[in-house]
Amino acid sequence: MAEGLTRRTLLAQATIAAAVYTLDPHELCCGVNAYAQTAGADTFELKKVGDGVWAAVAAARYKVNSNAAVIETNDGVIVVDTHSKPSAAQSLYKDIQGVTKKPVKKIINTHFHWDHWQGNQVYLQSNPGLEIIASDRTKARLTDPNQMNGGVAFIDKQIASVPGEIDKIKADLAKAPNAESKARLESSLAQAQAYLAELKAMKPALPTRTISSTATLMEGGREIQLQILGRAHTDGDLFVYLPKEKVVATGDAVVDWMPFLNDGYPEDWVQTVAALEKLDVAQVIVGHGDPTPKSHLTFFRGYLADLIAAVKAAAAGGATLDEMKTKVADQLAARYEKGMTKYPLGQYRDRIPVNVEQVYNKVVKKA
Ligand SMILES: [Zn+2]
Ligand SMILES: [Zn+2]
Repeated sequence: MAEGLTRRTLLAQATIAAAVYTLDPHELCCGVNAYAQTAGADTFELKKVGDGVWAAVAAARYKVNSNAAVIETNDGVIVVDTHSKPSAAQSLYKDIQGVTKKPVKKIINTHFHWDHWQGNQVYLQSNPGLEIIASDRTKARLTDPNQMNGGVAFIDKQIASVPGEIDKIKADLAKAPNAESKARLESSLAQAQAYLAELKAMKPALPTRTISSTATLMEGGREIQLQILGRAHTDGDLFVYLPKEKVVATGDAVVDWMPFLNDGYPEDWVQTVAALEKLDVAQVIVGHGDPTPKSHLTFFRGYLADLIAAVKAAAAGGATLDEMKTKVADQLAARYEKGMTKYPLGQYRDRIPVNVEQVYNKVVKKA
C-alpha cells in the first residue's frame, strides 16, 4: 500500500514537472519536455515516396528536428528543410550520400522556424555555389532582429535561454524519482548542452533567392513547383510540389502532430490547406511525423476548422478561457484525439489547451 502511494505521488510529481516544461512558451513550437523519450542521436529514416524522391523522417530529439524532402535530379539533389542544427543536417547529408553522390545544389526552406533552417550551413559548406530558396516573407523574418521562434536573431535568444533550460533539467535530475526518469533527463541534459555548443558555433546561411508567388523550377529533368497558397503556419509558407510524382512537402503547414499556432493565421490556414487539397497529390511529406496520404490534409483542415468553430461558439456562450480549454478538448476528442496522438510528441491533450488559447486570441479577441 505504502509503496503504491509512493509511486503514485512520484508519478504525480513527474507529471507536474512535465507540465512546467510544456508551458514554457519557447518550447511550444517544437521542443519536447525533458522527460520525453528521445533518440540517442539525430537520425533520419529515408522513406521513398517516388522515383528519386524521399521523405527524411526525423527521430524524436530533445531539440526537435524537422523532416526533410530529398529530391534527386539528373545533375544534383534538392533538399527541403534542414532541421534544428548542423549536426542533424550533417547526419542527413551522410544518408543522402548513401543513395546518390550527386552534389546538393539547392536548399528550400519552407518557413522561418528554427527547427527547419538552422542546418543550412552544412550544405553551403559542401557546395559553395549552393542556392537557398525561400519565400520573401520567410527571408524577411529570418533577418528580423525581433523575430521569435526562428531567424538569425533567435539564435542569440536561444544562446541566452538554453542555459536556463539546462539548469532546470539539472535541478529535475537532482530529484529524479526513478532510474527511468533519471536516464531520460540525463539524455535531455546531454542533448541540451550539445545544442548550446552548436548554437554558439553556428554560421547561419540565409536564402540567396526568394519568391513572392508560385514559381516552377525545371531541375535536371524534374518539374518542381514552389507553391505559395496563402498564410497558414506562418505568413511565408512554401509548399514544394512535384506534379509528376504527386508528392508535396508542406513544412509545418501540415504536420502529423497537433499544429503549432503561435505564428499562424488560423482562419487563413483552413483556406490554404483547402487550396492544397486541390492539387493532385498522392503522398504528403509533412513537417513532423510520417508521410501521409492525401486524406490527412482533409483531417488536418477539419481539425483547424472545427477548433475555430468550437472556440467561437464557447466564447459566444460566455465560457471563460479555462472552461473553453476543457470543453473544446472534450468536444473535439472523438473526432481528433486518436489521429493527433500517434507519436510521443505533439499529442492532442498536451497541445489542445494552447491551441484553444491561440485561436481565442487570434480569432475571437483578434489580439
Ligand atoms: Zn517544425
Ligand atoms: Zn514551424
